[in-house]
Amino acid sequence: MPRPRIAIAELSHETNAFAAQRVDLAFAERCGIVRGPAVIARARETATVVAGFIDAAEELGFELVPLLAVWITPAGVVTQEAYETLVGELIAGLHTAASIDGVLLSLHGAMVAEHVLDADGELLRRVRATVGPHVPVLAVLDLHANISPLMVEQADILIGYHTYPHLDQRERGRQAGHLLVRLLHGTIRPTAALVKPPMLPTSQRMTTDQPPMRTLMERAAELERDRRVLDVTIAGGFPPADVPEAGLSVLITTDDDPILARQLAEELAALAWELRSGFLGGVASWEEAADAIRSIRRGPLVLVDIADNPWSGGPGDSVELLRFLLREGVRPAALALVRDPEVVEQCYRAGVGATVEVSLGGKTDDLHGPPLAVRGTIQLLSDGRYVNAGPMHAGVTVDLGRTVVLRVDGIDVLVTERAESPIDLNVFRAHGIEPTEQRVVALKGKGHFRAAFEPIAERIVLVEGPGITGSDLRRLPFRHIRRPIWPLDLA
Ligand SMILES: [Zn+2]
Repeated sequence: MPRPRIAIAELSHETNAFAAQRVDLAFAERCGIVRGPAVIARARETATVVAGFIDAAEELGFELVPLLAVWITPAGVVTQEAYETLVGELIAGLHTAASIDGVLLSLHGAMVAEHVLDADGELLRRVRATVGPHVPVLAVLDLHANISPLMVEQADILIGYHTYPHLDQRERGRQAGHLLVRLLHGTIRPTAALVKPPMLPTSQRMTTDQPPMRTLMERAAELERDRRVLDVTIAGGFPPADVPEAGLSVLITTDDDPILARQLAEELAALAWELRSGFLGGVASWEEAADAIRSIRRGPLVLVDIADNPWSGGPGDSVELLRFLLREGVRPAALALVRDPEVVEQCYRAGVGATVEVSLGGKTDDLHGPPLAVRGTIQLLSDGRYVNAGPMHAGVTVDLGRTVVLRVDGIDVLVTERAESPIDLNVFRAHGIEPTEQRVVALKGKGHFRAAFEPIAERIVLVEGPGITGSDLRRLPFRHIRRPIWPLDLA
């Protein structure tokens, strides 16, 4: 058999239907689209799915045909033009590339376009229509995917991450490559079962190192030891996508045993339902956070606002953490981040060392609190680019746009042009701030920050200001989710 030619592509977006920032082409381009050989060059030796595809190709000797790759920062719905352009380019690439033997995709599984609710399912449908029924199509999905029957139907195998923080992306990409080759050799015949209990958990307690997800993942690992089981995926889902398929999914792929797949998926779904109350809570009140700060010994206390998490589609411009830290007189402290391009521009004009009076944040919409008038000195101006030390997304370059370190009453605030979740210590170190020397390190996040910040934290406290990414789903005016669903309608 000649070397198989495997097309690879990444088109990943987690859509928060309530976010004001729509994903148009300019937004997607700003996130960094690469094409052809650059797909491989950028991903090599990073902790990403595409790097796992490359690993598998090198181990098993298949040829990669890289089409395009973009990881679009979570935000609002994808415009029709952006979706059609990017998916159209992927499909055109498949048409143009001669004799493709298989397709490996890195998707999120919670993308929504303004004209297609199940944007990943539709993407897979078009890929399948292009390559035909006999060319294997495998996709790796995020742990926060809202898996739909259409996605399952159109792909040969779907594989979800096993970890949150997502530390196994490269391993899952590699697994997909290995399963693809087994499919090409005709040694497996995948049969999948998808079961979706009526559950819509939020993710502040979805990290896989603690129950209930740890319990579910341990059971999944046991099931995967059975040779008849090719993959067990438990996706926690992403509620703010506001689609009928939003919520927890169990997807089991067996080798030619649909009855076993169904039976095991039902079993795991029942276990998830039984453990559902474990997904609730985990968020402190601001008073409790203030008490925790008063009892810090060495620090840092890592204080995280989950309601304006950029990687759940939050605008990143809430200033509730800063308002709180100033009120409590906490110093030294460092905060990542407040997205405010207007203030960045003002600071760039003023220059390093200048003192400025600005109206900071709270400008995107009226859902994330009002702006805050502050007086600060400009410590540093940067291009906002740094490389993650890891473990999560190790080797990946982050681009915050032009960035300012503004010192306000002993608190160093990263003010940026773009919003990304601060998941790596280098978000501070690249800007001359040592996180371990702070009393409080304040972040916008949910779970990913734990991979890098838990080891340096004396204590972690989650809080929530106003915002669209918090734990209280009653804040969100859902239109498309299935009802009744837990925890909104069912106990
Ligand atoms: Zn995720």
